[in-house]
Amino acid sequence: MRIALISDIHSNLAALEAVLADAGPVDETWCVGDVVGYGPDPNECVDLLRARKHLLCVAGNHDRAAIGKMDTRNFNPDAEAAAQWTSRQLTPSSRRFLEELPPARELEQHDITIVHGSPREPIWEYMIYSSIAQANVELLNTRYCFVGHTHIPVMFNCASGPLGHTCRTVTPVYDVLFKLADGYLFVNPGSVGQPRDDNPDASYVVLDLPDHTVTYRRVPYDVQKTQRKMQKAGLPQRLWMRLSYGW
Ligand code: ZN
Repeated sequence: MRIALISDIHSNLAALEAVLADAGPVDETWCVGDVVGYGPDPNECVDLLRARKHLLCVAGNHDRAAIGKMDTRNFNPDAEAAAQWTSRQLTPSSRRFLEELPPARELEQHDITIVHGSPREPIWEYMIYSSIAQANVELLNTRYCFVGHTHIPVMFNCASGPLGHTCRTVTPVYDVLFKLADGYLFVNPGSVGQPRDDNPDASYVVLDLPDHTVTYRRVPYDVQKTQRKMQKAGLPQRLWMRLSYGW
């Protein structure tokens, strides 16, 4: 079974279309949250996801903010302005889609958990360091956990030893099959619509089950098309400029 694992689309339709085209035919699409927020096409991105044949999706902090289910005072001013703009654009059916997103999914048959932030804090925690993976591994009921939120493609592999679990950072190599090996593994596919690792190309992962392999992919897309729409919508300048350099 071939699965497109995507995260942090952030209303960037051009990036989402490019990623789905690159993935080609897949059996399922799994989305690790933040479908909306920041970008210019929230409804179009929701519609495109809904049209996928087998979609599993969890909620991100921006999805919650857009439907008024999260206090945006913790957001930076640009993110808050974008959340308010997004909220005004949502159609009733897009709103319903976002309202129905669960905070996490445990897929027992595949031994996989999907969550936007972390098992400890499904919506908010940024899993940026191996130490954070280490603090979360005890809370996992599955061997594998797919996360998003940081917009940075990375894996954390955790092995158990006499002193508990030790986690190490695994930097993805693109276009190479990576076998999900022994121990616990956190996989962050990076961001489709707002990459933050100095690479403006959309990032995602192709997952193969039951082979348990992942392949990281980077996909160029029409960044300027998204930027023009954001400018026209009056979204903050910093948010569309950062798409040029992927930070
Ligand atoms: Zn995000």
